[in-house]
Amino acid sequence: KFAIFNGEIIERSEAKVDVEDRGYQFGDGVYEVIRVYNGKMFTLKEHLDRFVRSSDSIGITLPYTSEHLTEMLGELIIKNKLHVGIIYMQITRGIAPRNHAFPTGNVVPNLVAYTKELTRPLESLKTGVKTILTEDIRWLRCDIKSLNLLGNILAKQKASEAGCFEAIQHRGNEVTEGSSSNIYIVKNGVLITHESNHFILKGISKDVILQACSQNGIPHEERTFSLEELEQADEVFLSSTTTEVMPIVEMDGNQVSGGAIGPITKKLQELFNQEIEKQCGK
Ligand code: PMP
Repeated sequence: KFAIFNGEIIERSEAKVDVEDRGYQFGDGVYEVIRVYNGKMFTLKEHLDRFVRSSDSIGITLPYTSEHLTEMLGELIIKNKLHVGIIYMQITRGIAPRNHAFPTGNVVPNLVAYTKELTRPLESLKTGVKTILTEDIRWLRCDIKSLNLLGNILAKQKASEAGCFEAIQHRGNEVTEGSSSNIYIVKNGVLITHESNHFILKGISKDVILQACSQNGIPHEERTFSLEELEQADEVFLSSTTTEVMPIVEMDGNQVSGGAIGPITKKLQELFNQEIEKQCGK
């Protein structure tokens, strides 16, 4: 398999970083995960825009234009013969003697991308997943898709040890997001999800879902909601690039909507599928 390594496509096994890469030492970088269906990239522009935004917000200037990145990623998919899967792409501030402050002089950012085959989670999309609740202990710039994921990792590990798929995080009484997903509730036919501010990552799947709501007359609100609202919701689901519109059927051992998948969740799964077909074909 091949990888993009600083502007070139090389054998993945040849792609090696120095021990003083700032991503390795500090998590000083940002990343994206892009879905590939049918050999085509889904919501590519949105991912590249977010990649630029994340980089900008920590003062890393991308050494390539979005057009150049698009070309390289397309070539990588072809070389790796990727049909259904993901592209992982990250950029770090580069290699420099260890020092917290940004390096001065000509340090070039390190960009890496590789592909992974990953089928759609078709079974879970039908049956739903179990979750736990956990306090959100992360920093206050969760809008940046940073390589620093310790808070997210600890939350996911807690879920994993409880035999669950995801941890729903909350700051005090307010629900924020999953460890690697956005969270939605439905109450009396209205979809509610946290507004996209510095407390959560502005999910690309979230954008697809909210746009589908707008276009199909599904009432929706972007606002914070409480743990009580979560517990009393008619439907709960999560979304992410890899998991799409994923129903939640259990939270901390308590069944959600009788363990079945609610009508709005189901409708949004259909609309999400339509968007995939529109962009990537059948
Ligand atoms: N929040 C967090 C913390 C995430 O890691 C992810 C996955 N990238 C998401 C939300 C969902 O974002 P997206 O729909 O762009 O994958």
